[in-house]
Amino acid sequence: MIYFDHASSSPILPESMQVLKEYCEDCFGNAGAAHRIGRKADRAKEEARKKILDLLGLTKTHNLIFTSGATEANNMAIKGIAFNYQNRGKRIISSNGEHASVFNTVHQLGEYFGFDVHFLDNKNDGAIYLDELKSLVNNETILLSFMSVNNETGAKNDLKGIIDIKAKYPKCFLHVDITQSLGKITFPYENIDILTASSHKFGGPKGVGILLFRKNITFLPLLSGGDQEGGLRGGTENVPGIMAMAKALEISLAKQPSFLDNCKKLRQRLSEYLTSRPDLYEINSPLDGVPYLFNFSLKLHKASVILEALSQKGICVSSISAWKENTMEEMETFISTLDSIMKEVRHR
Ligand code: PMP
Repeated sequence: MIYFDHASSSPILPESMQVLKEYCEDCFGNAGAAHRIGRKADRAKEEARKKILDLLGLTKTHNLIFTSGATEANNMAIKGIAFNYQNRGKRIISSNGEHASVFNTVHQLGEYFGFDVHFLDNKNDGAIYLDELKSLVNNETILLSFMSVNNETGAKNDLKGIIDIKAKYPKCFLHVDITQSLGKITFPYENIDILTASSHKFGGPKGVGILLFRKNITFLPLLSGGDQEGGLRGGTENVPGIMAMAKALEISLAKQPSFLDNCKKLRQRLSEYLTSRPDLYEINSPLDGVPYLFNFSLKLHKASVILEALSQKGICVSSISAWKENTMEEMETFISTLDSIMKEVRHR
């Protein structure tokens, strides 16, 4: 089987799996409990928090809350800021190309809670237009929310440009969904107020994620409950998942240079093949996009038909696709299989 669907989810790294198993078996206590095994879980969780902040160079500037994934973290970032700071202003700016967990959340705030929400258009490659942002942001704006890397095309947003625009509005926070970049490519994270991500995109388990935010920021909790996570997120913490996520992040960051190198070669090879058949394919990903996420269209066939044919031959891709620990051999198999499917389909 060849798996080219890492933008959607990656398999758990063996080292992360090992940690998950260890903590499920040996450290199963409730981190809020006063007994030995509870305290052990609590200490481990706090070490993971420190480790992630250290790995990202954010220990001095940011706090971290563990969540059930990027969807919850995005909801918390956006609703938590909106409800807590609505007396400063009601404007929230996001874009049409955001992941549903951002787009629908911002939309809901406009539809049901009276916020003045705006969605920027996206360029064909998925990045936002800075000029449009400049013309919409004002003193009533409390939140900007954009992704670092577009999950469908791999386009990078100009985060430095966004940060520069935001700098003129001290009442406004910037939230960046870094789900498609964390562990894979480095951005100036320290200059961003709020960051969100999911562990299963960088080799950790599913169902765990992070919300990072500057120390001067506070939220209205999305999940009211016990006093876990400083009272900002109620619910018994998923300590095994948290520990396994911290491990996966450590490994991904250590492997980042070789990972990016490998991805560039795979991308180059696929681009060569696709550009050799302009009658069949159109590349949608920008040249300066991330090398691990790639999007192209089929000019003559329905993507669903070709995806199904590839799946029957053991190749898992999505209409949006990404690679991670893939090899050139797998890329060659993918290209030859795709090529032969296209020929078969044409002759039907
Ligand atoms: N944001 C982005 C950019 C994503 O790609 C995804 C997952 N596709 C999410 C948020 C949501 O992540 P999860 O489903 O793990 O909550």
